[in-house]
Amino acid sequence: MAGPATLQALNARIVACNLCPRLRAHCVEIAQKRRRAYADWQYWGRPVPSFGDPEARVLALGLAPGAHGSNRTGRPFTGDGSGDFLYPVLHAAGFASQPTATSRDDGMKLNGLWIASVGRCAPPGNKPTPEELRNCAPWLDVEMRLLKELRVVVCLGRIAFDGLLAHESRLGRMPKRATYVFAHGTEYNLPDGLIAIASYHPSLQNTNTGKLTRAMLLSVFKRARQLAGL
Ligand code: SF4
Repeated sequence: MAGPATLQALNARIVACNLCPRLRAHCVEIAQKRRRAYADWQYWGRPVPSFGDPEARVLALGLAPGAHGSNRTGRPFTGDGSGDFLYPVLHAAGFASQPTATSRDDGMKLNGLWIASVGRCAPPGNKPTPEELRNCAPWLDVEMRLLKELRVVVCLGRIAFDGLLAHESRLGRMPKRATYVFAHGTEYNLPDGLIAIASYHPSLQNTNTGKLTRAMLLSVFKRARQLAGL
């Protein structure tokens, strides 16, 4: 995709994207119905732009917005259980200015980190279709080109990990994809010099069951800092 020249311009294009009719309809419907606890909220209801430090050396790559999280607040991982688990870890690892993320105007600043996802619209059941992920993939290609200081990608979950590998493949840089296996804490040197770290996604399903603990996720982000030379 020829595309926007800045991350800010890219975000503006993402917010206006309408390529996936099923997802756009779903996000609008959720924004209209709302959850009782958020009845007073004006839901975002659009594709969720990425967030963070344009000079970031580390990219945290997620799956897709949560229906009542970032589809409500308009910022990645903000306002739901995944974010309530992730942001305190980012704060402890030195990437986030504060441990709590509640809204776009809560004062949060990221330092050295950019947060994006392989799907930018909240999907029904948290499951985008393969076609929807393919529709959204060009945004990631542009984004990674614009992140000039990028060194490390933390893939939050298998779908994000596969999305990063697909990105490398599209650019002709992934000759032996079968050797890249998703497992929590594994690191891979990619052909273009980036380092990928695989992590379980901080979903409630993983964090409530102890599959992913705070110590495990903190270890991943501390390692990312180290690998990025921060
Ligand atoms: S998921 Fe991505 S490609 Fe599909 S409508 Fe949302 S922003 Fe556009």
